[in-house]
Parts: sequence; C-alpha cells; structure tokens
Amino acid sequence: MTSPAAARFSASPFRARVAVIGGGLTGLTAAWELQRAGLAPVVFESAPRVGGAICAHREGEWLHELGPNSLLEGSAEVATFIDALGLGSRRLYAAPSAKKRYIVRGAAPVAMPDSPLSFVTTKLFSFGAKLGLVGEPWRARGPADGSESVADFVERRLGREFLDYAINPFVGGVYAGDPRLLSVREAFPKLHALEQEHGSLLRGAWAKRNASGGPKGRIFSFAGGLEELPQTIARDLGPAVRLKAVVRAIRRRGTVWEVESEGAGALGAIETFSSVVVAMPGDAIAALPFENVPGATQLGGLREIAHPPVASVFTGYRREDVAHALDGFGMLVPEVERRQILGTLFSSTLFPGRAPEGHVAITTFVGGMRSPELGRRDDAGLLAVVQSELAHLLGVRAAPVYTHVRRWPRAIPQYTVGYERYKALYAQIEATAPGLFFGGNSRDGISLANCIASGRRLALAAAAHGPAA
Ligand SMILES: Cc1cc2nc3c(=O)[nH]c(=O)nc-3n(C[C@H](O)[C@H](O)[C@H](O)COP(=O)(O)OP(=O)(O)OC[C@H]3O[C@@H](n4cnc5c(N)ncnc54)[C@H](O)[C@@H]3O)c2cc1C
Repeated sequence: MTSPAAARFSASPFRARVAVIGGGLTGLTAAWELQRAGLAPVVFESAPRVGGAICAHREGEWLHELGPNSLLEGSAEVATFIDALGLGSRRLYAAPSAKKRYIVRGAAPVAMPDSPLSFVTTKLFSFGAKLGLVGEPWRARGPADGSESVADFVERRLGREFLDYAINPFVGGVYAGDPRLLSVREAFPKLHALEQEHGSLLRGAWAKRNASGGPKGRIFSFAGGLEELPQTIARDLGPAVRLKAVVRAIRRRGTVWEVESEGAGALGAIETFSSVVVAMPGDAIAALPFENVPGATQLGGLREIAHPPVASVFTGYRREDVAHALDGFGMLVPEVERRQILGTLFSSTLFPGRAPEGHVAITTFVGGMRSPELGRRDDAGLLAVVQSELAHLLGVRAAPVYTHVRRWPRAIPQYTVGYERYKALYAQIEATAPGLFFGGNSRDGISLANCIASGRRLALAAAAHGPAA
C-alpha cells in the first residue's frame, strides 16, 4: 500500500498507533499494511491463535481445513498481496484434475457442463430449461436496489430449473444459505451488476469474457494449508499481535481512542490510539460498548444478522473403499434432492499432500440455513449422516479410516434482503466518529479475497486519518 497518506505518516517521526480488533484475515491484512506504511498497529485477538475462521489441522499424513478450504485469485490485489508476503512459492493451485464440478440430480452426481457442447448434451438440465435460456437476453431488468432475492432474480432471468439445480446448490456451497432469503445485490453484486449494466446475464458474461480474454481466477491454497497465510502475516507483525487479548470496550476521548482489553497479562488495561480498525464478526461488534460514539447503540441491531451453524466433516478412506472416481472439485447438493448434506469437496483431488498414499480425503458440509439442526449434531451424529450420504452418492463402501469434525455454531453472515441497512449504519457511524473504521465479513463480503480487500481498505482509511492532533 503506497498512498500519499501512508507516505506522509511513514515520514512522520510520530508513528500513529492503530488498534486493530480481530486477528482474522481482515484484521491481519489491515495491520500488515499499516505496519508496511510505517504506522504502529496493535492487533487484539481474543483467541489463543490468529486466523479466525482459517484453521488447518494436520495429523500424520492427513492435512485438512476446518474452515475455508481455498482462496480465489480473482483479482490482481490477491496475487500481489500473496507475493508481497513472500508466499508466492508456497502457493498451490487447484489440480487440473479438480476442474470438473458435480451437482446431485436424481440421487447421483452429474458433471456440470463446462462447454457449449456439454451444455447441450448434459442431463443436469431438461431440454425445456435449456430452450428457455434462449429468451434470457430479452427479459426485463429487475430492481436496481437490494430488494430482490437471489431466488426471484434467477427464476425471473433463467427459470426455475436453473434456480433448483445450479444456483440453489451454489448458494448452499458458498453461503450455506437460502437463495429465497439472500439479496442478489448484496450477496452476488457481480451478478446483479451484470444485469444492470448489460440488461442480460448472457450478454454481460459474453461482453466480459471478450473484454478480459477469457475467464480468470484460479483457486489456491498453500502446501501447509490456508493457515500459512495468517501465520506468515502474524510472524511479520511480531509483538504487534496480542493473543488472548479480549477487547471489552472502545471509547472516544476527544480526538483519540481508548481501547479497554482483558487478557495477555493485563486485566482491564486501557490504552490510547489514534484510530481503531474493527475487524470482528457482526455479532461480536454488536456485543461491544462503543462509548461517546453517536448512534453506536444501533450496532446492537447487528445481532439480527443470521449466521447459520455449519459442520465441516472430514473423512479419510482407503482408495478402494470409494467407488466414485473423485475426479473433480467436489459435489454440491440441491435442496430439491432432499438429502442431508450441503456438499462435499474432493480434498485429496483438489490439492496434493492431503491424504496418505493409497487413501482419499473428502470434506463434507452439513447444516446451513437449509437444515440448521443437523449442523448442531454431535460428532457421532454428523459422522453417521455423512457416511450414509457418501455411501449413497459416491459409493463409499467401508467406514472411514480417519475422521475429524468441526462445528461452526455461527458460520457465515447471511446478506439477506434489506442487508444494506447494516452497511449504511457502519458508514453513518464512521462519518460521525473520525478514526473509527469497520470492515470484515459483515460489511465487505464473505470470501477470503473480500477480506484481503477489506483489510487493505481499512489500512488506507486509518493511514489517511493519521495521528491524532
Ligand atoms: C466453514 C467455513 C467455510 C468457508 N469456506 C470458505 C472458502 O472456501 N473460501 C472463502 O473464500 N471463504 C470461505 N469462508 C468464509 C471466510 O472464511 C470468512 O468470511 C473469513 O475468514 C472471515 O474473516 P474475518 O477476518 O473477517 O473474520 P474472522 O475470521 O471471524 O476473524 C475475526 C476475529 O475476531 C476475533 N474477535 C471476536 N471478538 C473479539 C474481541 N472482543 N476482542 C478481540 N478479538 C475478537 C475472533 O476471535 C476472530 O479471530 C468459510 C467460512 C466458514 C465458517
């Protein structure tokens, strides 16, 4: 990050202290950029480890992710950031054999079409549904605001079958969400913009494809799993990262900010900062007192943001005990198929080094908005569900030789219809409280790429604010 503001403060003999609340990817990115710009960030992380939702687990030769599994290199910003961290050589792109994606239809995985010819011949969509697409470019635009749900948008433009067998499983895989509740503008802004700008998804996709010379955006992780990313950033930040440091209150005192925290050897410590970057989940923000900040009591409303529970269930099998070739990225399950899982990743196909020789690794997601009660089951209950579903769908014919379960009681914020009111609230409070900045996955998007962009945006804003007078 080299902005005029950053350059100004790196030249200043007085290094502005910036409190960064939350040591997930957003907060760590913000702190790293602030440090690079010559400011003095302090990261407060309540957990005994950095990374937030990013969390890998190694046991013997099994390596698996408990939270996010991969990052999309959809923008130059992500690639540049990874290279600047010195992680470029550790990056592992998804294997070419993981290109295929499966959707369950009629209780069996069907490969998604990936070319015009395979679209014509696929059994995933009926002839009538395919024919219906011909009229898409001539359908009227929907509302420009955030009032339309993903389901209404897709049904209106593409028809019911594409909603059921393409978008519904995709929304289950990305948000663990319900397309009837999510706002298309808030949850899928690029899709919404395509219609608004080009009047048609097909026309828009075609125009973008020609403009960019083809689809881009490769999926990647690292040799040691995604956790290499937060760990590398934290290593660079050194003592600027405080673990087990729980922020209890944020207070405005004239032109400076006080942060009250507990833990890391200090009980009820109060420190002064020039600015505060808040990179916590929405419900954690809702629970925090912001004193002398006009309108901050309204932040309590962030508690209403739905965060469904999701369980990530990792199972390892002997290769000969799984009939399916596992020749792809994974398999998503549409709600209309009435099964008990959201989808699975073929983890050992996706990245090398995830399972011992002669074995395969599968990560299955259970719960979400579709079936929250399933996501809360105990380990034995979740493993039973997963084993039974994988037996039906992938031909698993023996018990796993390795298992690991992780439950996320409040997994991913749902950008539902009307969500823009939360974003407007953040902007309104920032406008009346100079030096206070909000970001993270309750504001700037849920993907890890969004979190990197959010952290960089926050760092720029805090650097521009500079030291207090
Ligand atoms: C199961 C699962 C699978 C996912 N899969 C993918 C994927 O494959 N690809 C992808 O791009 N995204 C994925 N995501 C989404 C992505 O992982 C998250 O949106 C992202 O990691 C959020 O990062 P963050 O830094 O904004 O927040 P978090 O990671 O939630 O970090 C916030 C931090 O704030 C800390 N904190 C909270 N309160 C306090 C306090 N009072 N004081 C101090 N610290 C506090 C927390 O301990 C936490 O570490 C997935 C998410 C989940 C749960």
